[in-house]
Amino acid sequence: MVNESMAGLGRVRSVIRVLFEYGNKRKAEIGADKVFDFSLGNPSVPAPDCVNEAIKELLDTQSSLELHGYTSAQGDASVRKAIADYLNTEHGTSFGADSIYMTVGAAASLTICLHALVCYGDEVIAFAPYFPEYRVFAEGAGAAFKALPPTVDFQIDAPLLKESISEKTKAVIINSPNNPSGVVLTEETIKAVCAVLKEKSAEYGHPIYLITDEPYRELVYDGVKVPFVSRYYDDTLVCYSFSKSLSVPGERIGYIAVTPEMKDAADVYAAICGAGRALGYVCAPSLFQRVVARCLGQTSDISVYKHNRDLLCGALTEYGYTCVKPDGAFYLFVKALEPDADAFCERAKKKELLLVPADSFGCKGYVRISYCVSTKQIENSLPAFKALAEEYKQKEL
Ligand code: PLP
Repeated sequence: MVNESMAGLGRVRSVIRVLFEYGNKRKAEIGADKVFDFSLGNPSVPAPDCVNEAIKELLDTQSSLELHGYTSAQGDASVRKAIADYLNTEHGTSFGADSIYMTVGAAASLTICLHALVCYGDEVIAFAPYFPEYRVFAEGAGAAFKALPPTVDFQIDAPLLKESISEKTKAVIINSPNNPSGVVLTEETIKAVCAVLKEKSAEYGHPIYLITDEPYRELVYDGVKVPFVSRYYDDTLVCYSFSKSLSVPGERIGYIAVTPEMKDAADVYAAICGAGRALGYVCAPSLFQRVVARCLGQTSDISVYKHNRDLLCGALTEYGYTCVKPDGAFYLFVKALEPDADAFCERAKKKELLLVPADSFGCKGYVRISYCVSTKQIENSLPAFKALAEEYKQKEL
């Protein structure tokens, strides 16, 4: 007899994975260049040179026993210090090595934080559209997951948040730049959310933690700034990943940063170490801890994503689609041309366009298009997008 809820999770595959596998099958049937697969958020730009240079330098200069050996459970102390120093220089914060816990990417950062914070009966709030795994992570940690509906501009409705927080609310998750909308939360939004959390924490007499999921922090265009949330709210936990900024998602490396001004920072950090231990998330990959410490502040060539965004967003708008021009990440969130996004995606599939219906992101009637693909794929797909829009116009006549 197995744990049925785990078996259930294992059996139900994500919509994105199903679509990706369909795409691979279809490519084998008709040729890879004929299928326009916009399903996955896998970086399409190679890692910056600093990644390979750091690997080579480490292999040449360090003992392989040390390089491939265990680090301390929370990560190598000099790596954690390098990350803390970098954050402090960038954001005027005061992190120390003991504010940082190295993880295997943002998914682990989130899971560890939720397990560290949630007690039986607690509630975790997120905002649609949200990364679908939030529900899995929050429920897996024993919380009730509450998703608030989207606003028209995909910012956050602070008065609604205020109404929705209860005594049981332990944490709120935000994600900026956002997957799937590409929207960056403005400073005004962050301030409004933090004001609500401060007020409600005081009212209930316990902190409501703000978990900020930031794998796309550096992927922003046209000089848009992403406010650093720890500076606005002491009870903030930053969940970071190098997967997208350095194009190394398969290497599984990221960190949690606990805001040092948090009143119970020492207890929260201890709970993070405990959750890491209980979940088996100790000693993140040793070689890549050292690699990322040497690449802080560097990114892949994001100008490619900006070019893709401008090309796709411009063309789709011209064909009659509606989308919010994304300021960051590498996703375009587009209104389906009929209320049922699944039906729209099925129709798109007939034109070999693989788009993700956004119902699982908590947002009905939208689709997500990952534009972290080759520019050639976008160029080649445009006639299909145009034909699809024309098909709907014909239906209306
Ligand atoms: N959070 C968001 C919003 C994401 O889009 C992703 C991955 O796509 C993750 C977390 C997980 O990132 P990682 O690969 O670093 O675990």
